[in-house]
Amino acid sequence: MSELLTANRIDEIGALGSASPDPAALVTELVGAVDEGRVADPADTGYALLVAADILKQAGDLADALALASRAIAEQPDEDAYARAVRGGLLLRLGRADEGIGELTALRPRLETDPDATYLIDELAESGHTETAVEWLTGALDAILERTRSQPHESEDAQDAAAAMIYGLAQRRHDLRAELGLPHDEYDNLADRLRAASNHALDALDDGPATLLFWPQAEFDALLLRWPALADSYPTSWDEHRAQLERALVDASGLGGADLGVVAGSVDGLAVFAQEAGSDPTDEETLDGYADSLDEAGVTAWPPGRNDTCWCGSGSKYKKCCLPRSRG
Ligand SMILES: [Zn+2]
Ligand SMILES: [Zn+2]
Repeated sequence: MSELLTANRIDEIGALGSASPDPAALVTELVGAVDEGRVADPADTGYALLVAADILKQAGDLADALALASRAIAEQPDEDAYARAVRGGLLLRLGRADEGIGELTALRPRLETDPDATYLIDELAESGHTETAVEWLTGALDAILERTRSQPHESEDAQDAAAAMIYGLAQRRHDLRAELGLPHDEYDNLADRLRAASNHALDALDDGPATLLFWPQAEFDALLLRWPALADSYPTSWDEHRAQLERALVDASGLGGADLGVVAGSVDGLAVFAQEAGSDPTDEETLDGYADSLDEAGVTAWPPGRNDTCWCGSGSKYKKCCLPRSRG
């Protein structure tokens, strides 16, 4: 066979990765194509080898992964930063800390100029060097902020690029510090403010509320007991809470809102979220932020089919539960 290995096929193999029933066959396919000069675009040679290295790494074969990363560097020495980072990460995992840190340290200045260079942070954090990762992020933020202060007349493009990097680095740092159990410092507060501002901007772009915060019955009762001030924001009964959400969803749908749904909140979850954000759990912005934070865990799509179980968790059919509430 002299089939060419295309970039699409490499992407596909990368997506399959170690979840494939036969990861070794994928590695063979990639490395074989490189060996036989069958990579459709020779510029993808390093990429093919690094995808193979990643599959081996996930399978726990660190030594062979390291050999492929080294080969990727040798194949494309002009464009070797990412391959060097992968190699550094593998060395760290292999317990060759001095070599690994050395490899990554050579690339460290990129954190101040290249938005993609956070792969260095990935390698550090994934190999257990989280404190070093935080230190490097702090240094990069210091440098970029210093640069924007000392060059206030940079072009708008340069300012936008710096702002995007500050955002990304600060979020990453915030999350790693949270993993380490560290309290918020000034940069963490900056990260929270930037994230809130960005969520706000995204909300403003939405046609309507995509997901609404819903409190299951027991949580709703516990919520108002724990924070009586929320009686200003919520109705007194759970039935009325369900009805309000159903009406809001009907309205949003009527305005052309798509991808509507509810996310279920919990009292404990809100307490943790507010504490972590250092904000008041009864504040509307906190509730919005909390709802946003739940999105990934699972949205219950709205509307359910008429004969399907209602979104509110009552166990009744939608047509006999919340569907008629919107008309009340
Ligand atoms: Zn925070
Ligand atoms: Zn219902």
